[in-house]
Amino acid sequence: MFLTVKRKTLWITTLALLVLCIFTLSIGSILTASPINKKVIVIDAGHGGSDGGVSGVNSGVTEAEINLLVAFSLKSELEQSGYKVVMTRDKKSVLTGDEKGKLTDMHKRRDIIDSACPDLVISIHCNKFPSQDRRGAQVFFNGASNSGILFAKALQHSLNGLNKEYVGREFSALKGDYFMLNCSTAPSAIVECGFLSNPSDEELLLSADYRVEIAKKITLGIGAYFAELYV
Ligand SMILES: [Zn+2]
Repeated sequence: MFLTVKRKTLWITTLALLVLCIFTLSIGSILTASPINKKVIVIDAGHGGSDGGVSGVNSGVTEAEINLLVAFSLKSELEQSGYKVVMTRDKKSVLTGDEKGKLTDMHKRRDIIDSACPDLVISIHCNKFPSQDRRGAQVFFNGASNSGILFAKALQHSLNGLNKEYVGREFSALKGDYFMLNCSTAPSAIVECGFLSNPSDEELLLSADYRVEIAKKITLGIGAYFAELYV
């Protein structure tokens, strides 16, 4: 009788240990596997050095400066969401020194993108238009890249949340023929974060809070793209 009870207890203990072991292993694999498997995103902050890009209509702030600040906000948002981020430019100067020219700088950016083997490339810019009325965040894609089109659509859809709130209307992503859209096989998009020729957009882009809002919308758009919400 005593022996039977002891044997029964042993069986129950063994079974409990087995269940605990399986449970621990499952939790371990859930914790170690990143939910987005560390997707690599290249952020390209447009312009830099003596190439300031367009400038703010009232403040004279350079696009290069705003692009870098948006890029840093975006890097922070993406890393918090578990992505791996590679920046083509992380300081005010260009990559190769101004004396070597814009083309060399662009080629250097392409080399960084190539070595990163990214899942997505996103180039950050600000817009300008002769009429001060034009405003809002606009996304561009390479028309020859189907995945690039879907990526741009996901970004534009998300950024339209801001366009609707601040501009009063939504936009569609547009086709564009730009170096940064053509230099990689990874889905690539250019985000023009707003018009520095428009005083209201300029004011928004000068605000750190708004730049974080943009970064959050872009991060949501990237999540929507990977979740294949745009197929
Ligand atoms: Zn630009």
